[in-house]
Amino acid sequence: MVPAWPFPCLPAGALIEEPHLETLKALLEGLDVMTAQKVPSEKSNFRVLDLRDVPHDFWSIWATESYEGDCSVPVTTQEQAVKTCPASGEETRFMVVTEFKIMKKGFNECDEYLLEWAQGRRNVIHLCCNKLRSWNSTLHLASSIWGQVNLGCIRELQLSEWCLEFIQDIEFHLGTMTNLHKLMLEEIRNSYNRATSVESTIKVLASTVFRAQHIRYLCLNDLCLLRNNLEKLFRNLDTRLETLSIASCWLSQADLDYLAHWPNICELKHLSLRDFIPESCPELLGVLLKRVASTLQTLDLEQCGLNDCHFNAILPALSHCSHLTKINFYYNNISLVVLKKLLHHTAKLSQLTEELYPAPRECYEEVIILRDRFEQLCPELLDILRAQRQPKAVSLAIPCFQCGHSCYYDLEARFCLCQQV
Ligand SMILES: [Zn+2]
Ligand SMILES: [Zn+2]
Repeated sequence: MVPAWPFPCLPAGALIEEPHLETLKALLEGLDVMTAQKVPSEKSNFRVLDLRDVPHDFWSIWATESYEGDCSVPVTTQEQAVKTCPASGEETRFMVVTEFKIMKKGFNECDEYLLEWAQGRRNVIHLCCNKLRSWNSTLHLASSIWGQVNLGCIRELQLSEWCLEFIQDIEFHLGTMTNLHKLMLEEIRNSYNRATSVESTIKVLASTVFRAQHIRYLCLNDLCLLRNNLEKLFRNLDTRLETLSIASCWLSQADLDYLAHWPNICELKHLSLRDFIPESCPELLGVLLKRVASTLQTLDLEQCGLNDCHFNAILPALSHCSHLTKINFYYNNISLVVLKKLLHHTAKLSQLTEELYPAPRECYEEVIILRDRFEQLCPELLDILRAQRQPKAVSLAIPCFQCGHSCYYDLEARFCLCQQV
C-alpha cells in the first residue's frame, strides 16, 4: 500500500485501532521499498507516514493535498511540509510521525521495533516524535529515547510519577525541547533515597521547559514542589497560555496572588484549579477571573474549598465571562442564598452548554443528606436558569459523607447508595 499511496501523507495510525507489530513491519517495509528507489517515482507524492493514534482529519488532508508537519511552524507550501520537519531542520526524503509512551516496563514492542528500524535509516527517514509520555519509568529507560529522536520535534511532553532527582539528571535534554506546546507534569515527588532540594529542581524546570517559547497548554497535577514556588517556576515563561490546569498542588496565597496578576493568563481559554484550597483572601480569585473574563471558555473549580465569600467575590467577574461554555463548581460549600445569586448570574451566560453546581448546604443536617429537601430545592433552583434560558446540560451534586458517593439532580434526582429507597 505504501509505494502505491497517491497522497503526501498516509495517516496509518488513525486507520489502525490497536498497535500491531506485523502491520507496522509491513508499513515500514513499504517505506524501505521507496527508499531503495534511487530516483523517486514521479507518480508518487508520498512523503509522510503518520503513526499517531489521534483522531485524524485525513479526509480533509487528502482533499487539500497538503499536510502540516505539526512541528509548530506553520508551513506555507506542501513541499516544505512534507520534505522537512521544521523543528528538526533535517532534509530527509521521508518522515515518520509518531508518539512514544515509556512505561515502567519500557516501550511497547511496536515502539521498540520502530526505534531500532529508524536508527539505521537516519539519512533518508526523519523519525518525528510529536508527543512523549513517560510514566513511572526509570531514568535509564527514559534516557534511551533522548539519543534516538530529535527532541526539538516534541510538541507535547508528559512526565508522570517521576522522582525529583531525575528531573535534574535530564536537565540538558529538557533544555533542547524548545518546541513544546503542551507540558504536563504529574506526581513529581521526592524519593527517599537521595536528598534533592526542591529549590534546585525548580531552577532546572524554570530554565528549561518553562522557558519554551510556544507553550500554550500547561497542566500541573499533584506537584508538591509548586507550593510557594509558583513565581519561581513561572517567571521565565513568556508565552500567552490558552489552557492552565493546576490540580492538587496546595497553592499558597502568595502563589495565587502571583497567578492572578501574571500577564500571561490574559488570553486564557481554559482554567482549572481543582482541589485547590485557598487559605484566605477570596478577592484574589475574583481578580484572576476578571483578568481572563474576555477569553475564558471553560472554568473548573471543582472541590476547591470555596465558600460563600469566594462565590460572592467571583460573581461580578463571572457575569463578564460571556464566552463560557462549561462551568464546574461541584463539591464546594455554598449556602442557598448565595447559590441563588450564582444562578441568577450564570443564567445570563447564554453560551453555556454544561454547568455543574454544588447543592446548597441546607440539604444537610450535620452530615446526613436531607433527601426530601434536596428533591424539593433542586427543581426550584434550576427554575432560576429556566426563567432566562433553556439549559442544555445542568446538574447539582452533593457528596454523601456516609457512603462516599454523591446525590445528583439533573432532570431527575439520582441518589447515593444510602439514600436509595
Ligand atoms: Zn520532526
Ligand atoms: Zn450515601
